[in-house]
Amino acid sequence: MKVFKFGGASVNSASAVKNMAHIVEQYYGEPLLVVVSAMGKTTNLLEKLVPQGDMQPPDFDENFAKLTDYHTEIAQQLFENQSEGIIAKLNLFFEQIHDRICNASFDYNYNYDQIVSFGELMSTTIVSEYLNFKNLENKWFDVRSVIKTDDRYREGKIDWQLTQSASDKLLKPLFNVHKMVVTQGFIAGSAMGATTTLGREGSDYSASVLSYCLDAEAMTIWKDVPGFLNADPKYFEKTVKIEHIPYNEAIELTYFGASVIHPKTLKPLQNKHIPLLVKSFITPDEEGSTIGDFKTIKPRTPLYIFKNNQILLSILPKDFSFIAEDNLHAIFGTFAQTGLKINMMQNSALSFSVCLDNNDMIFEKLIPLLKKSFKVRYNTGLQLITIRYYNDDIIRSIVGQRNILLEQRSRSTVQILVENAQ
Ligand code: ASP
Ligand code: MG
Repeated sequence: MKVFKFGGASVNSASAVKNMAHIVEQYYGEPLLVVVSAMGKTTNLLEKLVPQGDMQPPDFDENFAKLTDYHTEIAQQLFENQSEGIIAKLNLFFEQIHDRICNASFDYNYNYDQIVSFGELMSTTIVSEYLNFKNLENKWFDVRSVIKTDDRYREGKIDWQLTQSASDKLLKPLFNVHKMVVTQGFIAGSAMGATTTLGREGSDYSASVLSYCLDAEAMTIWKDVPGFLNADPKYFEKTVKIEHIPYNEAIELTYFGASVIHPKTLKPLQNKHIPLLVKSFITPDEEGSTIGDFKTIKPRTPLYIFKNNQILLSILPKDFSFIAEDNLHAIFGTFAQTGLKINMMQNSALSFSVCLDNNDMIFEKLIPLLKKSFKVRYNTGLQLITIRYYNDDIIRSIVGQRNILLEQRSRSTVQILVENAQ
């Protein structure tokens, strides 16, 4: 069995859905699980509709209309004069979304998952019906009955045992009857039956969890880039496509912020030796990149990862103590409590420096907590550059005249935090 994941960009219009149907058609006949994200920027739009407290979100009517018009138009363009059935289904979803918004509870994260999950429910409904319409017989499947998480809304943690047994019972047997199953990325269900989500951009991870449970022969992520590139084409004109890369190396790169795949995606695949192919939905016949049981990366070229909007916190003891184990214990405890992820850290006798993605939580929660025991200073608007297989010329050409605030080198990787994010 093969598992395909199609992200939002690959289904963001009627012509995009037609294109993805052409791709699926090439593989039609062998067992295929197709995991689909919400269409285009639907998740962002749905986020805007989630009520904050008992306030109706700003521009509610306008955003709600955008959501309904967008999906309705795609459906009309796909099904033309036979769109009645799909439009009726979509209208039902719109009603349910409206209902969820009007009857929201006080728990923002809970509401978020109940509302935002409709993006994937709608996209898969349209895609599944369209594939059937084109004689690519498939079964629409509600993934919430199989991917089981705890009830940490917006960041559900997979219960592997429940998920595996639900997959064996509910998903696997479908392939005895159907050639293809179409299901949602990103969303899941708690043991109690509520909808949860796996965190933004989590559809890659969904596909990987299902690949693991189904012992897939391979998983493919269809993207708008030709494969795993040595840099984000947004920053680099001349990128190099990686032919193949070992799991561990790719895991390191996603950990450093390579956005090509969700960081959690690779571990389950690695554990079962399932190769991950990254291919272009624009040029689907081209080779793409493979992440798998390789010894080395090919070609061995410098790899660049840029993270903008970084903040550097310097944490200093208030008293005359050094930064030692007890202080570090308290600092890490505070980070664990806020769930914020450290991108780089360094300590000296008198201060502990951490680099993080800048967000409101840092000012609302982290700094006030730290300030109970420490002095805190910060710099914002920074860029974190990670270069693998670096040399001094490369560093110079990338950093230029910019001021370096923090730098860390290992034999293969350098991380540099600089001012003036470009
Ligand atoms: N639709 C979700 C998001 O945009 C999940 C995904 O696309 O992977 O975050
Ligand atoms: Mg998306």
